[in-house]
Amino acid sequence: MELGHVYILLNAAMPGYLKIGKTTNSPAERASQLSSVTSIPTPFVVAYSVLVSDCTRVESEIHTRLSKWRANRDREFFTAPLDEVIRELTELSKRFDPAQAQRAIHSANEDIGACPVCGERVVVLAYRYACVNSIEPLNRCRFKLARCILECVIDRRVAQTLMRERKTEILDFFVSISGRKFRAALAIDELGKVEFVFPEHAWR
Ligand SMILES: [Zn+2]
Repeated sequence: MELGHVYILLNAAMPGYLKIGKTTNSPAERASQLSSVTSIPTPFVVAYSVLVSDCTRVESEIHTRLSKWRANRDREFFTAPLDEVIRELTELSKRFDPAQAQRAIHSANEDIGACPVCGERVVVLAYRYACVNSIEPLNRCRFKLARCILECVIDRRVAQTLMRERKTEILDFFVSISGRKFRAALAIDELGKVEFVFPEHAWR
């Protein structure tokens, strides 16, 4: 089960054809990726997309439902009317609510508290702590925190202090790219971006 978008793309050079596919990134990114090839004269535009808990299944179901409109078995192009495809996709997406995928992310990962920005749960991933809403392709929140920043290990207690107070105590030591050690606290701005706060005599 993979959280992602199922999209409908249009291309002015191919009137009457819809391209229906899936992506775990953003549909706009996918459209520009497909438009970058030199064999098509005009770019693809996103006509519609849905975020679903299982983009592979939704894509395959919509392709099956529209099989009589399929231009070529090996291609994702269809001649179905756009409003009909939008109606079908909207209907299908109700059975694949992305909240299901969010719950799956919760249950598979340790939870260390509430996100200071949006209130969702923050989970422990391999290299970072992350608000569930920050995980691709939800992208509805920016709060994430690396578990190690410039050689300084950010343990759960420090992460929780940051989440609760929006800043930490002064941490020893970070090591800059040039190899110098420094001390700093971490703080978060209102959008959830983590930044250094330097005390006096930060550098060693
Ligand atoms: Zn959040």
